[in-house]
Amino acid sequence: MRNRRAALAAIAGAASLALTLTACGQSGEGGSKEDKGDAKGGTIGIAMPTKSSERWITDGANVEKDLKAKGYKTKLVFGEDDPEQQVSQIENLITQGVKALIIAAIDNKSLNSVLQQAADAKIPVISYDRLILGTKNVDYYASFDNEKVGKLQAGYIVDKLGLASGKGPFNIELFAGSNDDNNTKYFFNGAMSVLQPYIDSKKLVVKSGQTKMNQVTTLRWDGATAQKRMEDILTSSYKSGKVDAVLSPYDGISIGIIAALKSDGYGTAAKPLPVISGQDAELASVKSIIAGQQSMTVYKDLRKLAKVATDMVDATLNGKKPEINDTKSYDNGTKVVPAYLLQPVSVDKTNYEKELVQGGYYTADQLK
Ligand code: BGC
Repeated sequence: MRNRRAALAAIAGAASLALTLTACGQSGEGGSKEDKGDAKGGTIGIAMPTKSSERWITDGANVEKDLKAKGYKTKLVFGEDDPEQQVSQIENLITQGVKALIIAAIDNKSLNSVLQQAADAKIPVISYDRLILGTKNVDYYASFDNEKVGKLQAGYIVDKLGLASGKGPFNIELFAGSNDDNNTKYFFNGAMSVLQPYIDSKKLVVKSGQTKMNQVTTLRWDGATAQKRMEDILTSSYKSGKVDAVLSPYDGISIGIIAALKSDGYGTAAKPLPVISGQDAELASVKSIIAGQQSMTVYKDLRKLAKVATDMVDATLNGKKPEINDTKSYDNGTKVVPAYLLQPVSVDKTNYEKELVQGGYYTADQLK
């Protein structure tokens, strides 16, 4: 497109160039056509962490769709949960001359040197969903209110157990996300701000004794790792008594936990599954919620996140300030990264139809 643009510009001049770009599907939001000439038609690099979880595949597709609608080309890569692979993928994108990068990091601390290369090439960087740490070379952060995610998960558990009205004591086990993902501590701390008072008053008992974040993280958010940990906890700490609730940070982890519980005999009238949280409204987990297994998930509308991130790219490339709504929460150790934070929504059996089906996220058929 760049060559074609140059050729067109040489032949027909700036006025017809503007017309050509408009015909290519450019949205025409803000700025003169001439201002946008350099960026429009350029390629945006998108680095997603993995295809092993449905949400990132959806993210990749949404971001590409939005960028194309705004007149850009895209190059989308998935890092397969391997930080080194992600670094080399981003290096390649830089070498290929992308105009901007949208990155959901695998290891939030491993990108410093590759992002220096991006800065040297004047490529703006949007940190997507997960904050990249320890570098000034990240321009904006598009995400959800991550602390609220944890509060919604824990708040649901508190409600379902009736803790606020004095019920208890109940047994709970705690799971957190990957320790190299900056979101993990926001989810966990948000949840613990709700649960800790009940743990302190012994209305919630963690029989495994594992309550510190570094005892409960799950490397790369892996469901099988969580399943194994839940099995170990059941063997070591539940020779008597039963698990009443599990704080799970993500749907894939919840599925692993439920598998461990079921193979220990949970899921019957005599031994019902505990209240168990989740996140992402992944298809398998929404079906599990409908089937009465997983209790809830935190729905984050990824269509909105893609829109925020691609608007950030479009504004930045056109010399404009993107819309942000938070300038204080996300310090990456080098700077506070200006952010736009979206609102997560608690979804269970009672409101999935309204939020997910009527909201157009899934069709009713997909949930059958
Ligand atoms: C995201 C979550 C997701 C998790 C595992 C986090 O960074 O914010 O939505 O569940 O990664 O993929």
